[in-house]
Amino acid sequence: MIDLDYDRQHIWHPYTSMENPLPVYPVTHAEGVRLVLENGTQLIDGMASWWSAIHGYNHPVLNQAVMDQLSSMSHVMFGGITHAPAVELARKLVDSTPAELQKVFFCDSGSVAVEVAMKMALQYWINSGVTGKHKFVTIRNGYHGDTFAAMSVCDPVTGMHDIFNGILPQHYFADAPQCRFNETCSDTDIASMKALLEEHHNTVAAVILEPIVQGAGRMFFYSADYLAAIKALCDEFNVLLIADEIATGFGRSGKLFACEHAAICPDILCLGKALTGGYMTLAATLCTERVSAGISRDQGVFMHGPTFMANPLACSTALASIKLLEQENWQKKVAGIEKQLNSELAECRDSASVADVRVLGAIGVVVMKEAVNMARAQAFFVQNGVWIRPFGKLVYIMPPYIMEPDDLLVLTRTIIKFTKWVANS
Ligand SMILES: *Cc1c(COP(=O)(O)O)cnc(C)c1O
Repeated sequence: MIDLDYDRQHIWHPYTSMENPLPVYPVTHAEGVRLVLENGTQLIDGMASWWSAIHGYNHPVLNQAVMDQLSSMSHVMFGGITHAPAVELARKLVDSTPAELQKVFFCDSGSVAVEVAMKMALQYWINSGVTGKHKFVTIRNGYHGDTFAAMSVCDPVTGMHDIFNGILPQHYFADAPQCRFNETCSDTDIASMKALLEEHHNTVAAVILEPIVQGAGRMFFYSADYLAAIKALCDEFNVLLIADEIATGFGRSGKLFACEHAAICPDILCLGKALTGGYMTLAATLCTERVSAGISRDQGVFMHGPTFMANPLACSTALASIKLLEQENWQKKVAGIEKQLNSELAECRDSASVADVRVLGAIGVVVMKEAVNMARAQAFFVQNGVWIRPFGKLVYIMPPYIMEPDDLLVLTRTIIKFTKWVANS
């Protein structure tokens, strides 16, 4: 038996209180698109373990990749040493991202990839002899991670700015775009970002944003026009563009990388989450030749080097995961999920409790009119045999790409049932 009492007394879970912890569900194993609880209950997984388990759980190909690598070397320091898993994964990332992105920095987690990206932007300007560019511009409602630099560019209202007021560096926040995906965007949408860059470009190192999909902060899909316009503004005002594709990378939005919707290439790109197919923690920050050359000018070195940098187990698994993605015709699977989510979630619009429904790629979002009670909602979903974890007003799913239509139907039906349950209670 998993000792839930011990867990409650000693272990932090994400964003929880130690005095007043929310219930946690003991999982003993996971297979395909199902999580299995200790009491034998099977839950169809709508979360892909926070965007990451794109191939589902306990996948034979990924298991084999781990075991093969384990038998030769699970870890070795990356200072002064290199290895095939790092080289082959770097090659795969360079080949599958936009052509200008040529240099790869491997790190431990998404938040660290964002720290690295921001540090790269700062070092680029410092080593290029341009002084005073040490601020960032971002979009409201963004989410970039929980470490300090990352937190400083998270949404200033819903993020942790209040708690760390006076401690977090102050950056500039542009209004979030209101133009939806597949809509055109107007000058009004861009006005706020444009005004900030016009006024502050001399002090701004980079714009950092989540391309197309604003994830944890908003679950909103914005117009590719907006992204293209921001890229043009960055070029006009001589600031770098950092694209945080930690959530969107590897097909989730219907393109391999969300930047492709606007046919733009950022100067710096952050990857994480689905990189290893949800098996292990690994992230990567890619940059262009221009950025790497700037940082490296006059014997400059990039000042970062985590202990577990380019962990061979994680790199091997990531390589296997990307190859698997390529072989499995992910475009067809994601398009199928998108179509089904669009047709089945539409019914939620009729519910009195629902404010909005939006779908892009393998992401389905139902925005409730009021924030849901997380613990009660979680229990409702578990009783109905699914794993969905709402957040605030957002009930959303981003299932593994391998999910069959029958299982996806159970997810969407349960969400509809949930919206009615909320409307009637
Ligand atoms: C999850 C996420 C992060 C942070 O990644 P961690 O691995 O949780 O540190 C950063 N940016 C975006 C867009 C994310 O979705």
